[in-house]
Amino acid sequence: MGAPKSGFWSPRIAALQPYVPGEQPRIDNLVKLNTNENPYPPSPLAIDAIQRASESGLERYPDPTSMALREAIAHRHGLNRQQVFVGNGSDEVLAHAFFAFFQQADPLLLPDITYSFYKVYAQLYGIACELQPVDDDLRIDVDALAARAQSVDGCAGIVIANPNAPTGIGLPLKRIEQLLMACPHRVVLVDEAYVDFGGESALPLVALYPNLLVVRTLSKSHSLAGLRVGFVCGQSHLIEALTRVKDSFNSYPLDRLASAGAVAAIEDERYFESTRKAVMDTREGLSLQLEDLGFEVLPSQANFVFVRHADHDAAMLAAALRERAVLVRHFAQPRIDQYLRISIGTRDQCSTLIDALQTVLG
Ligand code: PMP
Repeated sequence: MGAPKSGFWSPRIAALQPYVPGEQPRIDNLVKLNTNENPYPPSPLAIDAIQRASESGLERYPDPTSMALREAIAHRHGLNRQQVFVGNGSDEVLAHAFFAFFQQADPLLLPDITYSFYKVYAQLYGIACELQPVDDDLRIDVDALAARAQSVDGCAGIVIANPNAPTGIGLPLKRIEQLLMACPHRVVLVDEAYVDFGGESALPLVALYPNLLVVRTLSKSHSLAGLRVGFVCGQSHLIEALTRVKDSFNSYPLDRLASAGAVAAIEDERYFESTRKAVMDTREGLSLQLEDLGFEVLPSQANFVFVRHADHDAAMLAAALRERAVLVRHFAQPRIDQYLRISIGTRDQCSTLIDALQTVLG
Protein backbone atom coordinates (compact mmCIF):
# COMPACT_ATOMS: atom_id res chain seq x y z
CA MET A 1 0.00 0.00 0.00
CA GLY A 2 1.03 3.63 -0.15
CA ALA A 3 0.94 6.57 -2.52
CA PRO A 4 0.56 5.85 -6.26
CA LYS A 5 4.03 5.60 -7.72
CA SER A 6 3.64 8.83 -9.67
CA GLY A 7 3.20 10.54 -6.30
CA PHE A 8 6.98 10.40 -6.01
CA TRP A 9 7.48 12.17 -9.32
CA SER A 10 8.35 15.83 -9.80
CA PRO A 11 5.25 17.61 -11.19
CA ARG A 12 6.94 18.36 -14.51
CA ILE A 13 7.80 14.70 -15.03
CA ALA A 14 4.22 13.68 -14.27
CA ALA A 15 2.98 16.09 -16.97
CA LEU A 16 5.55 15.00 -19.60
CA GLN A 17 4.61 13.20 -22.79
CA PRO A 18 7.88 11.44 -23.65
CA TYR A 19 9.03 10.85 -27.22
CA VAL A 20 8.03 7.47 -28.65
CA PRO A 21 10.77 6.06 -30.91
CA GLY A 22 9.88 3.87 -33.90
CA GLU A 23 9.62 0.21 -32.91
CA GLN A 24 12.66 -2.09 -33.06
CA PRO A 25 10.93 -5.51 -33.07
CA ARG A 26 12.64 -8.88 -33.43
CA ILE A 27 10.80 -10.40 -36.37
CA ASP A 28 12.54 -12.78 -38.77
CA ASN A 29 13.18 -11.39 -42.28
CA LEU A 30 11.82 -8.02 -41.23
CA VAL A 31 12.15 -5.20 -43.77
CA LYS A 32 12.68 -2.31 -41.43
CA LEU A 33 11.90 1.00 -43.07
CA ASN A 34 10.50 2.83 -40.03
CA THR A 35 13.37 4.64 -38.25
CA ASN A 36 15.50 6.14 -41.04
CA GLU A 37 18.52 3.99 -40.33
CA ASN A 38 21.01 3.49 -43.14
CA PRO A 39 20.48 0.07 -44.78
CA TYR A 40 24.23 -0.33 -45.35
CA PRO A 41 26.71 -1.30 -42.63
CA PRO A 42 29.21 1.28 -41.36
CA SER A 43 32.64 1.76 -42.94
CA PRO A 44 34.88 -1.30 -42.39
CA LEU A 45 37.51 1.16 -41.16
CA ALA A 46 35.12 2.25 -38.40
CA ILE A 47 34.56 -1.37 -37.35
CA ASP A 48 38.36 -1.92 -37.25
CA ALA A 49 38.87 1.21 -35.18
CA ILE A 50 36.17 0.15 -32.69
CA GLN A 51 37.75 -3.30 -32.42
CA ARG A 52 41.17 -1.82 -31.79
CA ALA A 53 39.79 0.62 -29.23
CA SER A 54 38.16 -2.27 -27.39
CA GLU A 55 41.50 -4.01 -26.97
CA SER A 56 43.14 -1.46 -24.69
CA GLY A 57 42.24 1.39 -22.39
CA LEU A 58 38.66 0.53 -21.41
CA GLU A 59 39.67 0.56 -17.74
CA ARG A 60 40.29 4.30 -18.14
CA TYR A 61 37.75 7.08 -18.58
CA PRO A 62 37.68 8.53 -22.09
CA ASP A 63 38.88 12.06 -22.92
CA PRO A 64 36.16 14.32 -21.46
CA THR A 65 36.78 16.89 -24.22
CA SER A 66 36.58 14.32 -27.09
CA MET A 67 39.44 16.23 -28.66
CA ALA A 68 40.33 13.73 -31.41
CA LEU A 69 36.74 13.51 -32.64
CA ARG A 70 36.17 17.25 -32.50
CA GLU A 71 39.35 17.79 -34.47
CA ALA A 72 38.30 15.23 -37.09
CA ILE A 73 34.90 16.93 -37.46
CA ALA A 74 36.46 20.41 -37.58
CA HIS A 75 38.99 19.30 -40.19
CA ARG A 76 36.29 17.67 -42.34
CA HIS A 77 34.11 20.80 -42.33
CA GLY A 78 36.72 23.58 -42.42
CA LEU A 79 36.08 24.73 -38.84
CA ASN A 80 38.23 24.81 -35.73
CA ARG A 81 37.68 22.54 -32.75
CA GLN A 82 36.35 25.39 -30.57
CA GLN A 83 33.43 25.49 -33.00
CA VAL A 84 32.47 21.82 -32.47
CA PHE A 85 30.62 20.10 -29.62
CA VAL A 86 29.91 16.36 -29.56
CA GLY A 87 27.38 14.24 -27.71
CA ASN A 88 25.74 10.86 -27.28
CA GLY A 89 23.65 11.05 -30.43
CA SER A 90 22.30 14.31 -31.78
CA ASP A 91 19.31 13.84 -29.48
CA GLU A 92 21.58 14.55 -26.51
CA VAL A 93 23.16 17.51 -28.26
CA LEU A 94 19.69 18.90 -29.03
CA ALA A 95 18.62 18.47 -25.40
CA HIS A 96 21.67 20.41 -24.21
CA ALA A 97 21.00 23.15 -26.76
CA PHE A 98 17.40 23.54 -25.58
CA PHE A 99 18.65 23.76 -22.00
CA ALA A 100 21.46 26.19 -22.81
CA PHE A 101 19.67 28.66 -25.11
CA PHE A 102 15.90 28.46 -25.13
CA GLN A 103 14.89 28.87 -21.47
CA GLN A 104 13.87 32.49 -22.02
CA ALA A 105 10.86 34.62 -21.11
CA ASP A 106 9.52 34.42 -24.69
CA PRO A 107 8.35 31.32 -26.58
CA LEU A 108 10.48 29.20 -28.89
CA LEU A 109 9.37 29.21 -32.54
CA LEU A 110 8.95 25.85 -34.32
CA PRO A 111 7.09 24.67 -37.42
CA ASP A 112 3.97 22.67 -36.47
CA ILE A 113 5.18 19.70 -38.50
CA THR A 114 8.71 18.82 -37.44
CA TYR A 115 10.79 16.33 -35.44
CA SER A 116 8.51 15.57 -32.52
CA PHE A 117 11.33 15.35 -29.97
CA TYR A 118 11.68 19.17 -29.99
CA LYS A 119 8.39 19.59 -28.15
CA VAL A 120 9.43 16.97 -25.61
CA TYR A 121 12.69 18.81 -24.78
CA ALA A 122 10.70 22.02 -24.48
CA GLN A 123 8.30 20.36 -22.03
CA LEU A 124 11.17 18.82 -20.08
CA TYR A 125 12.80 22.21 -19.58
CA GLY A 126 9.60 24.24 -19.21
CA ILE A 127 10.07 26.12 -22.50
CA ALA A 128 6.90 27.48 -24.11
CA CYS A 129 6.61 26.79 -27.85
CA GLU A 130 4.80 28.73 -30.53
CA LEU A 131 4.03 26.57 -33.55
CA GLN A 132 4.15 28.12 -37.01
CA PRO A 133 1.98 26.13 -39.44
CA VAL A 134 3.74 24.69 -42.48
CA ASP A 135 1.97 25.62 -45.72
CA ASP A 136 -0.52 23.43 -47.62
CA ASP A 137 2.36 21.68 -49.41
CA LEU A 138 3.89 20.93 -45.97
CA ARG A 139 6.74 23.38 -46.63
CA ILE A 140 8.14 25.44 -43.74
CA ASP A 141 6.73 28.97 -44.00
CA VAL A 142 10.00 30.88 -43.68
CA ASP A 143 8.42 34.28 -44.34
CA ALA A 144 5.94 33.77 -41.49
CA LEU A 145 8.64 32.50 -39.11
CA ALA A 146 10.91 35.42 -39.96
CA ALA A 147 8.09 37.94 -39.55
CA ARG A 148 7.18 36.45 -36.18
CA ALA A 149 10.84 36.53 -35.04
CA GLN A 150 11.01 40.23 -35.99
CA SER A 151 7.76 41.17 -34.26
CA VAL A 152 7.73 43.15 -31.02
CA ASP A 153 6.59 40.03 -29.13
CA GLY A 154 10.07 38.53 -28.88
CA CYS A 155 11.05 34.88 -29.07
CA ALA A 156 13.46 32.46 -27.41
CA GLY A 157 14.89 31.40 -30.77
CA ILE A 158 13.99 29.25 -33.75
CA VAL A 159 14.42 25.51 -34.28
CA ILE A 160 13.99 23.83 -37.64
CA ALA A 161 15.09 20.59 -39.22
CA ASN A 162 16.57 20.98 -42.71
CA PRO A 163 15.62 18.83 -44.56
CA ASN A 164 12.51 18.76 -42.43
CA ALA A 165 11.29 15.63 -40.66
CA PRO A 166 9.11 13.81 -41.41
CA THR A 167 8.49 15.49 -44.78
CA GLY A 168 12.04 15.29 -46.23
CA ILE A 169 11.58 18.72 -47.85
CA GLY A 170 14.72 20.88 -47.81
CA LEU A 171 15.17 24.65 -47.67
CA PRO A 172 17.85 26.47 -49.69
CA LEU A 173 20.59 28.29 -47.80
CA LYS A 174 19.15 31.71 -48.67
CA ARG A 175 16.04 30.89 -46.64
CA ILE A 176 18.18 29.82 -43.65
CA GLU A 177 20.00 33.16 -43.89
CA GLN A 178 16.64 34.94 -43.90
CA LEU A 179 15.86 33.33 -40.52
CA LEU A 180 19.33 34.13 -39.15
CA MET A 181 18.94 37.79 -40.08
CA ALA A 182 15.41 37.97 -38.69
CA CYS A 183 16.48 36.62 -35.30
CA PRO A 184 19.89 38.18 -34.55
CA HIS A 185 19.59 38.18 -30.76
CA ARG A 186 18.54 34.57 -30.27
CA VAL A 187 19.86 31.22 -31.43
CA VAL A 188 18.61 29.74 -34.68
CA LEU A 189 19.17 25.97 -34.53
CA VAL A 190 19.22 24.04 -37.79
CA ASP A 191 19.04 20.27 -37.34
CA GLU A 192 20.77 18.72 -40.35
CA ALA A 193 20.27 15.04 -39.43
CA TYR A 194 19.42 14.24 -43.07
CA VAL A 195 21.35 16.90 -45.00
CA ASP A 196 23.91 14.50 -46.51
CA PHE A 197 21.20 12.96 -48.71
CA GLY A 198 20.87 15.98 -50.96
CA GLY A 199 20.21 19.01 -48.75
CA GLU A 200 22.11 22.28 -48.59
CA SER A 201 24.15 22.62 -45.39
CA ALA A 202 24.35 25.78 -43.31
CA LEU A 203 27.85 24.90 -42.05
CA PRO A 204 29.48 27.52 -44.35
CA LEU A 205 27.42 30.15 -42.49
CA VAL A 206 28.85 29.29 -39.05
CA ALA A 207 31.70 31.80 -39.40
CA LEU A 208 29.27 34.54 -40.47
CA TYR A 209 26.44 34.28 -37.95
CA PRO A 210 27.01 34.35 -34.18
CA ASN A 211 23.46 33.07 -33.64
CA LEU A 212 23.69 29.89 -35.77
CA LEU A 213 23.91 26.32 -34.47
CA VAL A 214 24.04 23.43 -36.92
CA VAL A 215 23.28 19.97 -35.50
CA ARG A 216 24.50 16.81 -37.24
CA THR A 217 24.42 13.07 -36.57
CA LEU A 218 26.46 10.04 -37.63
CA SER A 219 23.34 7.87 -37.23
CA LYS A 220 22.07 8.27 -40.80
CA SER A 221 24.65 9.09 -43.45
CA HIS A 222 27.49 7.28 -41.61
CA SER A 223 25.40 4.18 -40.73
CA LEU A 224 26.23 4.51 -37.02
CA ALA A 225 22.82 4.76 -35.32
CA GLY A 226 23.96 2.06 -32.89
CA LEU A 227 27.06 3.97 -31.81
CA ARG A 228 25.26 7.17 -30.71
CA VAL A 229 27.33 10.07 -31.99
CA GLY A 230 26.01 13.52 -32.79
CA PHE A 231 27.61 16.95 -32.98
CA VAL A 232 26.85 20.61 -33.27
CA CYS A 233 28.80 23.39 -34.93
CA GLY A 234 28.63 27.07 -34.02
CA GLN A 235 30.80 29.95 -32.93
CA SER A 236 32.86 29.34 -29.80
CA HIS A 237 30.64 31.40 -27.45
CA LEU A 238 27.74 29.03 -28.22
CA ILE A 239 29.93 25.92 -27.88
CA GLU A 240 31.09 27.21 -24.50
CA ALA A 241 27.49 27.28 -23.23
CA LEU A 242 26.92 23.69 -24.40
CA THR A 243 30.11 22.59 -22.68
CA ARG A 244 28.88 24.19 -19.45
CA VAL A 245 25.70 22.10 -19.68
CA LYS A 246 27.62 18.90 -20.49
CA ASP A 247 30.02 19.45 -17.59
CA SER A 248 27.03 19.88 -15.27
CA PHE A 249 25.40 16.68 -16.52
CA ASN A 250 27.86 14.00 -17.72
CA SER A 251 31.55 14.68 -18.27
CA TYR A 252 32.00 11.66 -20.57
CA PRO A 253 29.07 11.44 -22.97
CA LEU A 254 31.14 9.66 -25.62
CA ASP A 255 32.88 6.42 -24.77
CA ARG A 256 36.21 5.31 -26.23
CA LEU A 257 34.62 2.98 -28.78
CA ALA A 258 32.20 5.63 -30.05
CA SER A 259 34.95 8.23 -30.46
CA ALA A 260 37.28 5.84 -32.28
CA GLY A 261 34.56 4.56 -34.62
CA ALA A 262 33.28 8.05 -35.35
CA VAL A 263 36.73 9.42 -36.24
CA ALA A 264 37.37 6.52 -38.64
CA ALA A 265 33.91 6.85 -40.23
CA ILE A 266 34.38 10.58 -40.79
CA GLU A 267 37.82 10.05 -42.33
CA ASP A 268 36.57 7.33 -44.72
CA GLU A 269 35.10 9.80 -47.19
CA ARG A 270 35.08 7.37 -50.08
CA TYR A 271 32.83 4.89 -48.25
CA PHE A 272 30.57 7.73 -47.08
CA GLU A 273 30.20 8.99 -50.67
CA SER A 274 29.38 5.54 -52.05
CA THR A 275 26.69 4.68 -49.49
CA ARG A 276 24.98 8.05 -49.55
CA LYS A 277 24.91 7.94 -53.35
CA ALA A 278 23.38 4.44 -53.23
CA VAL A 279 20.67 5.71 -50.86
CA MET A 280 19.90 8.73 -53.06
CA ASP A 281 19.79 6.64 -56.25
CA THR A 282 17.48 4.10 -54.61
CA ARG A 283 15.25 6.94 -53.38
CA GLU A 284 14.73 8.21 -56.91
CA GLY A 285 13.83 4.73 -58.21
CA LEU A 286 11.54 3.99 -55.28
CA SER A 287 9.76 7.34 -55.65
CA LEU A 288 8.88 6.55 -59.29
CA GLN A 289 7.61 3.08 -58.36
CA LEU A 290 5.48 4.53 -55.56
CA GLU A 291 4.03 7.10 -57.96
CA ASP A 292 3.18 4.28 -60.36
CA LEU A 293 1.19 2.68 -57.51
CA GLY A 294 -0.83 5.88 -57.07
CA PHE A 295 1.09 7.51 -54.23
CA GLU A 296 1.84 11.20 -54.01
CA VAL A 297 5.53 11.45 -53.06
CA LEU A 298 6.78 14.69 -51.50
CA PRO A 299 10.12 15.90 -52.91
CA SER A 300 12.72 14.39 -50.56
CA GLN A 301 16.28 15.44 -49.79
CA ALA A 302 16.49 12.86 -47.00
CA ASN A 303 16.93 9.09 -46.63
CA PHE A 304 13.17 8.60 -46.53
CA VAL A 305 10.10 9.55 -48.52
CA PHE A 306 6.83 10.92 -47.19
CA VAL A 307 3.90 9.61 -49.21
CA ARG A 308 0.12 9.39 -49.28
CA HIS A 309 -2.37 7.44 -51.34
CA ALA A 310 -5.59 9.01 -52.61
CA ASP A 311 -7.67 5.86 -52.03
CA HIS A 312 -6.11 4.09 -49.06
CA ASP A 313 -5.96 5.07 -45.40
CA ALA A 314 -2.35 5.43 -44.21
CA ALA A 315 -2.82 3.69 -40.83
CA MET A 316 -4.45 0.75 -42.59
CA LEU A 317 -1.63 0.55 -45.12
CA ALA A 318 0.99 0.60 -42.34
CA ALA A 319 -0.83 -2.20 -40.50
CA ALA A 320 -1.19 -4.28 -43.68
CA LEU A 321 2.50 -3.88 -44.46
CA ARG A 322 3.40 -4.86 -40.91
CA GLU A 323 1.47 -8.11 -41.36
CA ARG A 324 3.81 -8.75 -44.28
CA ALA A 325 6.89 -8.02 -42.12
CA VAL A 326 7.49 -4.60 -43.70
CA LEU A 327 7.69 -1.76 -41.18
CA VAL A 328 7.06 1.85 -42.18
CA ARG A 329 6.24 4.81 -39.92
CA HIS A 330 2.77 6.29 -39.51
CA PHE A 331 2.18 9.38 -37.36
CA ALA A 332 -1.33 9.62 -35.91
CA GLN A 333 -1.03 13.38 -35.86
CA PRO A 334 -3.22 16.15 -37.31
CA ARG A 335 -2.33 17.24 -40.88
CA ILE A 336 -0.07 14.25 -41.58
CA ASP A 337 -2.16 11.25 -40.53
CA GLN A 338 -2.74 10.23 -44.15
CA TYR A 339 0.98 10.00 -44.86
CA LEU A 340 3.51 7.20 -44.45
CA ARG A 341 7.19 7.84 -43.88
CA ILE A 342 9.23 5.18 -45.63
CA SER A 343 12.99 4.95 -44.99
CA ILE A 344 15.13 4.14 -48.02
CA GLY A 345 16.34 0.55 -47.76
CA THR A 346 18.60 -1.51 -49.98
CA ARG A 347 17.29 -2.14 -53.49
CA ASP A 348 16.11 -5.59 -52.35
CA GLN A 349 14.27 -4.19 -49.36
CA CYS A 350 12.57 -1.60 -51.55
CA SER A 351 11.51 -4.34 -54.00
CA THR A 352 9.98 -6.30 -51.10
CA LEU A 353 8.10 -3.16 -50.07
CA ILE A 354 6.78 -2.59 -53.58
CA ASP A 355 5.71 -6.26 -53.88
CA ALA A 356 3.91 -6.04 -50.53
CA LEU A 357 2.19 -2.79 -51.56
CA GLN A 358 1.06 -4.30 -54.86
CA THR A 359 -0.65 -7.11 -52.91
CA VAL A 360 -2.17 -4.76 -50.33
CA LEU A 361 -3.47 -2.24 -52.89
CA GLY A 362 -4.97 -5.11 -54.92
N1 PMP B 1 17.04 15.00 -35.59
C1 PMP B 1 16.15 14.48 -36.42
C2 PMP B 1 15.41 15.38 -37.34
C3 PMP B 1 15.91 13.08 -36.43
O1 PMP B 1 14.99 12.55 -37.25
C4 PMP B 1 16.64 12.26 -35.55
C5 PMP B 1 16.46 10.75 -35.56
N2 PMP B 1 15.33 10.29 -34.96
C6 PMP B 1 17.55 12.86 -34.68
C7 PMP B 1 17.74 14.24 -34.74
C8 PMP B 1 18.30 12.07 -33.66
O2 PMP B 1 19.31 11.31 -34.18
P1 PMP B 1 20.44 10.67 -33.28
O3 PMP B 1 20.10 10.89 -31.83
O4 PMP B 1 20.45 9.23 -33.66
O5 PMP B 1 21.70 11.37 -33.66
